[in-house]
Amino acid sequence: MIDINHIRAQFPILDREVYRKPLVYFDNGATVQKPQSVIDSFEGYYRHYNANVHRGVHTLSNEATDAMEQSRKAFQTFLNASHDHEIIFTRGTTESINLVAHGFAQLLQEGDEVIISQMEHHSNIVPWQLACERSGAVLKVIDMDSRGVLDLEHFDSLLSERTKMVALVHVSNTLGTINPVKTIIDKAHQYGAAVLIDGAQAVAHAPVDVQALDCDFYALSLHKMYGPTGVGILYGKETWLDRLPPYQSGGEMIKTVRFDQTTYADLPFKFEAGTPHIAGNIASKQAIDFINEIGLDAIARYENELLDYATEKLSDIKGLKIIGTAPEKSAVISFVVEGLHPYDIGSILDKYGIAVRTGHHCTQPLMQFYDIPGTVRLSFAVYNTKAEIDVFTTHLQKTLQMLS
Ligand code: PMP
Repeated sequence: MIDINHIRAQFPILDREVYRKPLVYFDNGATVQKPQSVIDSFEGYYRHYNANVHRGVHTLSNEATDAMEQSRKAFQTFLNASHDHEIIFTRGTTESINLVAHGFAQLLQEGDEVIISQMEHHSNIVPWQLACERSGAVLKVIDMDSRGVLDLEHFDSLLSERTKMVALVHVSNTLGTINPVKTIIDKAHQYGAAVLIDGAQAVAHAPVDVQALDCDFYALSLHKMYGPTGVGILYGKETWLDRLPPYQSGGEMIKTVRFDQTTYADLPFKFEAGTPHIAGNIASKQAIDFINEIGLDAIARYENELLDYATEKLSDIKGLKIIGTAPEKSAVISFVVEGLHPYDIGSILDKYGIAVRTGHHCTQPLMQFYDIPGTVRLSFAVYNTKAEIDVFTTHLQKTLQMLS
């Protein structure tokens, strides 16, 4: 059971008004609000132990280093990674994927193949296009049906000895589809291909166990899981991280530097060049603690209730069509309304204090698939309520009347 009042009380921003209306924040797919503990962690670091990590002999530096390494360990436990050095701090999912794709650009050879899917976010498309351009590899795309369910037979037909990487979104940010990643990973491994999972929309909504999944890489962003912006995680299997060349270079990622030869630091530091986002990396542990206190199973159950409730309410609205109707869905609802532009709907909803996202959601190939310019998207977090969904549907009806 979720104690919604206790949860909401931890988010100061939920008390604010927009256009003199209580904020209804349904743009959690873009970024999630932060609990007080995460906000406090920033202040605690800058007030009490601001120092650079790994470099000092002094107390403050040691405290900062310890706090950041505790955060890394918290991610190891959260994702059930085998080692803490398999957890790399990055700027976000985008940088995590770029790190892997940049390395693969050097490992791939002409004629090799990389497989992605129709429903990828641009950040899991463009890095692979660049890697293919640089290496002469070929990009292949898994088809899906009109509900937003991947065509696994088509995936089977794309797999071959030439497949070197399968990069797939765990939960679609636009459709909400939860992909059968375990099945896909097992199939890819039969051909010796590596698998990267884009978990940006998954990790705050259901438990993820990277060892059970057996994925080779898992990418996520803290700001979508109650943590700060500017922090991401790349989980990588030790064997793969050892094989990949460094992404960025400079201080912190080296063992020895001479003008004739440089050797690199051990994992995870080989991939953490320069001064990291220390305050953010430390505060990220508070985000995990917040999630763990409620429990991901309870979060998933509660958000599913919100999803079912909102889906039913929206189904009653004439002319409204939900885009993304996969049987396995996370708490994301995209929709279009006949004859109306999503942007106009979103702008009017804002005047009622309701925050939704409109547009292509960085998934233009999906918009091309459905032949639409964009959608209105609601995406829920654990602090949302059915009462907010009621406010939303009432004001959506008003908005549609105004616009028609
Ligand atoms: N993948 C998915 C599925 C996403 O939803 C997002 C963020 N919208 C990203 C990748 C990119 O995340 P970030 O901007 O935090 O790097």
